[in-house]
Amino acid sequence: MKNKTQALKDSFNRRIDYLRVSITDKCNLKCIYCAPGSRPEYFRRGDVLTYEEIVRFVRIARGHGLRKVRITGGEPLLRRNIASLISSLKETGIGDLSLTTNGILLPEIAGRLRDAGLDRVNISLDTLQADRYRSITKGGDIRLVHASIDSAEAAGLSPVKINVVPIRGINDDEIVSFASLTFQKDFHVRFIEFMPASCNGMWSKEKCVTSSEVLKQIRGLGDLELFEFRGRGPSRNYRLKGALGIIGIISPVSDHFCGHCNRLRLTADGKIRPCLFSAEEIDIRTPMRTGVSDKEIDVLFRQAIRIKPQQHLLQEDGDAGRHLKTMSKIGG
Ligand code: SAM
Repeated sequence: MKNKTQALKDSFNRRIDYLRVSITDKCNLKCIYCAPGSRPEYFRRGDVLTYEEIVRFVRIARGHGLRKVRITGGEPLLRRNIASLISSLKETGIGDLSLTTNGILLPEIAGRLRDAGLDRVNISLDTLQADRYRSITKGGDIRLVHASIDSAEAAGLSPVKINVVPIRGINDDEIVSFASLTFQKDFHVRFIEFMPASCNGMWSKEKCVTSSEVLKQIRGLGDLELFEFRGRGPSRNYRLKGALGIIGIISPVSDHFCGHCNRLRLTADGKIRPCLFSAEEIDIRTPMRTGVSDKEIDVLFRQAIRIKPQQHLLQEDGDAGRHLKTMSKIGG
């Protein structure tokens, strides 16, 4: 189903054509920098959007030129029958449908997700060392992540993107090893700056390894060419000479990419969040459950685009991360 509608522009002339949908705030890993504190409060089951509600919202947004959807969480593969959500989302005509996962449950269902219409996956992996993986994720088995990468490749969920968050003193000695993977495989290895998520108290400016530090280390491996100028997404992409894969550099902290931001988020409990670092949200769950028409949801969608701020204030306001409760709640 083709839809040539131009995406809506926000107040700062940015076309908003990308939605990140968190489908659960629960996770099967407890990554030290991401998991909420020791007594996490999860959304009540009945407060989480149903698949029908998510698909309804996406269909309405699709009518305004939405072209790209990413499913995330929490760990999205914890939700039952996710293949049915994927096929329903694909039926709305979304051209680019992807999923971010820790990979633990992927090997069992990669083929089914591909058949249902999933285009690509991002797999989060912050270390290549089994012991360290266990300690960062509080118990995770890295062999399952390797299996998930293999299963994604075998299923044609490509290019496989690997998300790495370098954190000083935790895994910043592995930046070169991660970048070297691109000599062997056509992976996209994406280094994402550690963003302040105030909930678990782990973040500090010193722990955030900036993109320029990451690039400096990678340059030691050889010539690095800018592969593709930063397009519509936040990643600046490079290729090491002779490499098969790509290195993505994502700098939300040191060099915000708000001028290129094309996205909205939908939280698992049904709030549209126009900016990760702003507390403003628009509830769609309550209206949907009180029987409003598509037209009224459409108005809320437009309102979310209208109130999208020009930029986040992380550089100016060191405490702007207070609005970001935790990535697992909003959807990373
Ligand atoms: N469970 C899935 C996973 O592990 O990929 C999806 C959710 S997780 C919140 C999505 C991504 O957000 C992961 O790649 C994770 O590393 C990243 N993330 C979490 N907290 C972050 C932070 N404070 N700064 C940067 N990235 C973060």
